[in-house]
Amino acid sequence: MTEALPGWSLAYSGKVRDLYVAAGQSLETAPEMLMVASDRVSAFDQVLEPAIPGKGELLTELTRWWTERLGLPSQLAPDADARTPEPVRGRAMLVRTLDMLPVECVVRGRVTGSGLKEYQRLGSISGVSLPDGLVDGDALPEPIYTPAWKAPQGEHDENVSYERTVELVGEADAAAIRELSLSVYARAAEVAAAAGLVLADTKFEFGRDRVTGELLLADEVLTSDSSRYWDAAALEAGRVESFDKQIVRDWLAANWDGEGAAPELPAEIVERTAARYRELIERLTGAPSIGE
Ligand code: ATP
Ligand code: MG
Repeated sequence: MTEALPGWSLAYSGKVRDLYVAAGQSLETAPEMLMVASDRVSAFDQVLEPAIPGKGELLTELTRWWTERLGLPSQLAPDADARTPEPVRGRAMLVRTLDMLPVECVVRGRVTGSGLKEYQRLGSISGVSLPDGLVDGDALPEPIYTPAWKAPQGEHDENVSYERTVELVGEADAAAIRELSLSVYARAAEVAAAAGLVLADTKFEFGRDRVTGELLLADEVLTSDSSRYWDAAALEAGRVESFDKQIVRDWLAANWDGEGAAPELPAEIVERTAARYRELIERLTGAPSIGE
């Protein structure tokens, strides 16, 4: 469900976010766009029903908090708050429209999810060889960069080697986004650890500013949709307790064979997910500051 915003026209509706540009402009030409986070939740590339109340606001808050906390090169437009339309304030960001690089920059500190599957099949993830014997949730010897090619709408993203990203975006940009991804992940993982959280993995997207040519971190940053956060103490005791949409993924995996329409999420799953998202923000933003 997307909303009509006076003065803005809907330019793109993704699985979770809706992009608006000033009326009369297009995404190709508009210098700024309004990125509105809905409460929609997706898992295994399916948008599910019902939505998770408050999710859009929490994702937006997390992106802003991390951008500020780590002083990241930001896509945020100047005076963004004052110019954001009232009905979506709190879950919208006015950002500079960037020329996006077609690479999803995934960094993993732990082996799990689709990375685990690839590792079990090939002994490597995105061409990065890994030691034998790793099991779900294990820490990697060091964080690894496992990029994916951002497929056009409707197609599945595909894990690719670093060399393939060089072919896609050129050597200089490929190296720059790898270095930025690894360093932002390392700093974020340290901040998360101070809050008793393990940042198991995350995904960044980058784009080039059309005016200044700068390479900027775009999209959502270290949110519970783009990242896996686990409770450190529970992990120590051998349990994975996630602060992200793993609850939804697990329920769907147990209740859907992937054929036909996905079933509706039970109210209990919706409420537990919403509660976990809120708890994540509280844990992170309430954590004591650590040295940078
Ligand atoms: P897809 O990303 O494959 O289009 P999605 O379901 O992930 O689908 P959303 O994340 O819901 O899409 O929508 C956000 C879209 O906006 C993404 O396509 C993302 O690449 C793009 N985007 C994010 N920030 C910017 C930016 N500053 N300039 C231009 N595009 C951006
Ligand atoms: Mg996305």
